[in-house]
Amino acid sequence: EEQLEYVKSHISTYPDFPKKGIIFRDIFGALTDGKACRYLRDLLVQHIRSQHPDVELIVGLDSRGFLLNLLLATELGIGCAPIRKKGKLAGELVGVEYKLEYGSDIFEMQRSAIKPGQKVIIVDDLLATGGSLAAATQLVRKLGGVILESVVVIELQELQGRQKLDCNVHSLIQY
Ligand code: IMP
Repeated sequence: EEQLEYVKSHISTYPDFPKKGIIFRDIFGALTDGKACRYLRDLLVQHIRSQHPDVELIVGLDSRGFLLNLLLATELGIGCAPIRKKGKLAGELVGVEYKLEYGSDIFEMQRSAIKPGQKVIIVDDLLATGGSLAAATQLVRKLGGVILESVVVIELQELQGRQKLDCNVHSLIQY
């Protein structure tokens, strides 16, 4: 509880970013503080160790999810892999298209990143409408991964993103 409060007090809030009317929640405030950084890692690792001790791979979303996937994976003694926006990854790729407010984008993974049947946890900094994690979920399953859970630091509850997802979601901090 004390650790959670400490991390929460280091999440920065920026009104009207990137657009007017949007309240931007920023995990970088927590990452620049050594203690908050360690607490954040410990809280997420404790959750995963207790709920999903059988996890085999952490998959992180472009780009703040990358800060978390390596951090968690090394602590848990397992591997990690990135989901990236189209055009960044080399080798044989698998993609999914997902809708944005205007238009669409494509997420890609390297086919070799997940072994069929491998137990996966997906991580990102923040769950808003759920569009990104829904696409990530689709992509991991396309590669044969079994999703144990999606884990985020922050959940914006009023957007009800969790309802768009057909996997368990764990969030550390809710607004
Ligand atoms: P969603 O697809 O609508 O759930 O949006 C989640 C994605 O957008 C995540 O990858 C977040 O990094 C990013 N995002 C949306 N809103 C915020 C915010 O307030 N702060 C930081 N990232 C955000």
